Amino acid sequence: MLSVKTLAELAKVDASIYKLEENKDEFPNQLKKPFSLLNTKKLELSRVKNKYDKLREHLSIVEDQKEKLVDKLSKIQELSREATASEYQKILREQLKIKKDISFVEKRLETSLEKFETIKTDLERVNKDTQSVMEEYETIFIETKDQIADLDDEIAILNTKRDQLIGNLDSEIKTAYLKSYKLGKGKGVAFSVDARCNLCNVKLPPNFAIKLQKHENLINCPSCGRIIISVDND
Ligand SMILES: [Zn+2]
Repeated sequence: MLSVKTLAELAKVDASIYKLEENKDEFPNQLKKPFSLLNTKKLELSRVKNKYDKLREHLSIVEDQKEKLVDKLSKIQELSREATASEYQKILREQLKIKKDISFVEKRLETSLEKFETIKTDLERVNKDTQSVMEEYETIFIETKDQIADLDDEIAILNTKRDQLIGNLDSEIKTAYLKSYKLGKGKGVAFSVDARCNLCNVKLPPNFAIKLQKHENLINCPSCGRIIISVDND
């Protein structure tokens, strides 16, 4: 006599586990969009940060230039105190030239500073944006992890039940079930419903109904190969 009841329970447990595993596979999808948004923000941040760094470097170079020119000017002014009349003319010309250079560098500095202020504001804004997107992503990530952990708990309980049910089977049927389970990719037992296999939907030959109702031998679906049982007259 076949343990039809146990096989029927196994079919239900298998189906529940299968469904939960399917749900579990769906979860990474809900992370895709926030993850790609986070990456876009990170890219933008690194682009703005790069600009900011370059501008800061440029700024320090120009500041350096100005400092050197101011230094040069003060040295020449010192020289002018001990200069002869003819030297003095030359020094004056030189002073004028340096002053012109300084005002040119100052203008450059002013423009660069303006640009720097703008990029600084940009950087602060993008940084804040990225932070908030990151926080959102982390929240979703933790939620997803929790949901997956809940599913894992449910699956573990069902697996324990499944192991108990398998333990109740005679060894021959157990071997057949495990083979059918592997072949059926996680669904080891099919039902005959309205003379069809409920898992692969193939129409069962007319003599199957009588054979199935006898519950004497293991019968496999002619199409998907899974163990097939009938619970019609239970
Ligand atoms: Zn089938």
